[in-house]
Amino acid sequence: MFIQSGEWAIISKHRVLITYLKSLKARIFLAMLLAGWIPMLIVAYGVLDSYRERAITVRSTDVQNQCRILSNQLVSYNYLKDPSSELIGGELAQLSNLYDGRIIVIDQNFKVIRDTYELIEGKLVVSEEVIRCFQGETTNQLSNKRYIEMTVPIQEADTQKIIGVLLVSVSTDSIWDNLDVLTGNALIFVLICGVLVLTSSILLSYFLGRPFHRMVLSLREIAEGHSTEDLKIKAYTETEEISEEFNKIVNQMRVLDESRQEFVSNVSHELKTPLTSIKVLADSLLVQEDAPVELYKEFMSDIAEEIERENKIITDLLSLVKMDKKAANLNIEPVDINDLLELILKRLRPIASRKNIEMVLESFRPVTAEVDAGRLSLAFTNLMENAVKYNRENGWVHVSLDADHKFFYVKVIDSGMGIPEESLNYIFERFYRVDKSHSNEIDGTGLGLAITKSAIQVHKGAIKVSSHVGEGTTFSVRIPLNYIA
Ligand code: ADP
Repeated sequence: MFIQSGEWAIISKHRVLITYLKSLKARIFLAMLLAGWIPMLIVAYGVLDSYRERAITVRSTDVQNQCRILSNQLVSYNYLKDPSSELIGGELAQLSNLYDGRIIVIDQNFKVIRDTYELIEGKLVVSEEVIRCFQGETTNQLSNKRYIEMTVPIQEADTQKIIGVLLVSVSTDSIWDNLDVLTGNALIFVLICGVLVLTSSILLSYFLGRPFHRMVLSLREIAEGHSTEDLKIKAYTETEEISEEFNKIVNQMRVLDESRQEFVSNVSHELKTPLTSIKVLADSLLVQEDAPVELYKEFMSDIAEEIERENKIITDLLSLVKMDKKAANLNIEPVDINDLLELILKRLRPIASRKNIEMVLESFRPVTAEVDAGRLSLAFTNLMENAVKYNRENGWVHVSLDADHKFFYVKVIDSGMGIPEESLNYIFERFYRVDKSHSNEIDGTGLGLAITKSAIQVHKGAIKVSSHVGEGTTFSVRIPLNYIA
């Protein structure tokens, strides 16, 4: 299925919109907009609504009071019997003019005595409101939104008898007119405030989001390799913290990269040394026309030794790479540690016996632990091999095994040459060998302890060393009995 260029444009617009909506800027903008607009609209609507209610109540009360005064006058002028009073007639007309309304005076027989609209005089009005008013109940209601309709009883002052009813309807047009003006003003107010809120939302969201934008740009520069400077965005505590944490990670990566480069150059150097020797030996044989057989034999055995050394370095490097692989490749199973150590000792005793070195295993209890037997065996072999290699004639190697409920502990103690204090910190580093002069005499690649440490760390264990030059060295290892993933 082919996507047309127009569709691409829609898809990319859609993406831009989603990216914007997900941004902090957009969230700040929306939050500000809502926080500004919602209360403003509520206040504007609330004010208008309460004005309307209040105005209608005031108007009703006013009219009701006026009608009560009027009904008293109607009684005192006996208007229901004799509606000829011009004074009352005038007042009725004045009142209905004032409120733009209509007043109908009804007597006891539901007959209209006076209608200010002069439409139904002499007719009967028997409506529910009028009947209820004769029963003593005044009514007051808003009809069709445009009129307030009410009934007011005409009562005799002494007997309290209801002798008639005033049926009044008052226009609310003036209230609605006022309300229209007010709504217009409120709308202008809302619009001005709305624009102000909108502008400040845009500005604030831009300025508040800017440090994060700067951060993204800086990170992009660092990621693309255009900048090696530390990230420093101090606008907010958060950006400062992110910058600090990011710089820490970058520094760790730089250190890692440096150590990787150093490792590669060390490996190349170590691999080249035996090759150079082999080349020198072979060349010197080649230039001699009649080299004696003895010389050939001697040089060839030197060459074989160098090949052996090269082989050992490569084997160690491969072990190291294997150790460095993640714990996922571990082959964890319950292993009898006593057996494992015993087996290593058995393999090393013939080598030890060449220098008449005694090797002893002291086990305080049987120990079974969840470990990778292969890797751990390599680690302990290296420790014990070193204990023999860097030992004196007639020396001893003491291996002990103990455990508590959480860990097992292995110590490899020897009576060898010891390690100078200043070297103790470096012996676990790759290719580090204490004394170059004795390194020439004693075979080694400088990788053994690095392999050992890596194997122990992958088991979440720990290794420590203490040593006295001329007296001997102790390596102490601690490993959890149960594998911690
Ligand atoms: P190597 O292949 O040189 O033995 P290692 O990594 O096993 O490499 O050891 C690093 C260095 O630490 C050795 O070259 C040696 O100088 C020193 N070392 C290790 N174990 C002992 C020990 N038991 N006694 C004295 N020196 C030791």
